[in-house]
Amino acid sequence: MFVSTNPATGQSFARYAAHDAPAATRLLDGCGRAFGRWRDTPLAARLDILLRLAGLFEDRVRDLAVLSSREMGKLLPEAEAEVRRCARVCRFYAKMAPRWLADEPYPAETGRRMVVHEPLGVILAVMPWNFPYWQVMRAAAPLLACGNVLAVKHAANVTGAALALEALGREAGLPDGALRVLCIENGLVAGAVAHPAVRGVTLTGSARAGAAVGALAGAHIKKAVMELGGSDPFVVLADANLGDCCVAAESARMRACGQACIAAKRLIVEQPLVAAFTENLAARLAAHRPGDPLDPATTVGPLAREDLLENLDRQVRQSLEKGARLVLGGHRLPRPGFFYAPTLLTDVRPGMPAFDEELFGPVAAVTEAADAEEAVRLANATDYGLGASVWTADTARGLALARRIEAGMVAVNAVPRSDFRLPFGGVKRSGYGRELARSGLTEFSNIKTIVVE
Ligand code: NDP
Repeated sequence: MFVSTNPATGQSFARYAAHDAPAATRLLDGCGRAFGRWRDTPLAARLDILLRLAGLFEDRVRDLAVLSSREMGKLLPEAEAEVRRCARVCRFYAKMAPRWLADEPYPAETGRRMVVHEPLGVILAVMPWNFPYWQVMRAAAPLLACGNVLAVKHAANVTGAALALEALGREAGLPDGALRVLCIENGLVAGAVAHPAVRGVTLTGSARAGAAVGALAGAHIKKAVMELGGSDPFVVLADANLGDCCVAAESARMRACGQACIAAKRLIVEQPLVAAFTENLAARLAAHRPGDPLDPATTVGPLAREDLLENLDRQVRQSLEKGARLVLGGHRLPRPGFFYAPTLLTDVRPGMPAFDEELFGPVAAVTEAADAEEAVRLANATDYGLGASVWTADTARGLALARRIEAGMVAVNAVPRSDFRLPFGGVKRSGYGRELARSGLTEFSNIKTIVVE
């Protein structure tokens, strides 16, 4: 049984029956049959269905947003923006797929040489709760355009959103089983990976989940893409525009209540700017109004689950014990639900959880760097490597530093985000493989070489 609990109140409001192992096998058998139909559907017809799906997202923005807001606590405007982005990602891949999937001719002295892209089959998508629609559609839009189908094992706390997506796919005209939700416990994921129709696995979530599911995929020699967490550096050089970078740092730590894989987590500031940066950011964080995510006056909602709040609180407490300084917050809010006070830590150094681990919540951690060289060293002193940023008035210097940062993505004077036109993914413990753009469209394709003499 999966239970949806409103994190703003702590009250559960919906229950969903779980699939047992035989039911999961039957559903995956159905996904296999759906793959046969979908693969044989002409590309133009597949893309028409993707466009219909986009239209349905646009028609249902409000209902879908309210559902995810109730399940995981996201502010309603943020939830609505997420649903609209799902429509746009479908439209983008419907437009780009013919070009990016076209046969590629290669030089040949005689006859023909070419590469064609063919879908692999059923892709098992293990997905997290923080962007319950977007995380699925970021994988699904390119995969479906390419001709693959998806079996989605979503996070247990957003089962309502998962089933709403499945219903939307059906209504858009996808074959039954082409976007199928498996309501299974984590213990049944091994059986799903082993199912013969499953030809690949994509997972978005923690490194812990990635290591477990990646090992299963490896054991069955099935292609995997791992989009894991990050502890992304946000490097502020002394010549940076203070206002711009403080607005960006605030948004990184408060959007989705700080629960985004690619949000800046370690704010590494060159010494001359530390005091002004801290003061400016503290004022911004202190001005937030925690509350019901459906209330337009609220600017920060709850964390998605109580255990996530407890882990965040542990990370803050242990960092303080190891010498971090508390400027703001640092405690659970005394109200029902899973609210954590907007928090600012300074004097954060390697060896503290606020530096070494992923902070998934409204906690900003400032680390001082003596100069740009130390800032780069600190930026790379992490097991993760997802999306970094560098803030400086000198964009040429920013670009030079960007090249030295170990990350899947670096933004100069901007916040890295999952832009559906660009490849997305990480290095080190942030994972491997890429979603989105041409790389994401062909990541689960058979890149088949054909030689004709
Ligand atoms: P998880 O990584 O545990 O969850 C992500 C998905 O993986 C969920 O569908 C989850 O299912 C599934 N999963 C977890 N463990 C296994 C397993 N052993 N086998 C198969 N599937 C598994 O994240 P949490 O929700 O527990 O969050 C913990 C931390 O992970 C956060 O504090 C944050 O640091 C990080 N995280 C990062 C995300 C990102 O986008 N980078 C997203 C979410 C979390 P179920 O929900 O049923 O356990």
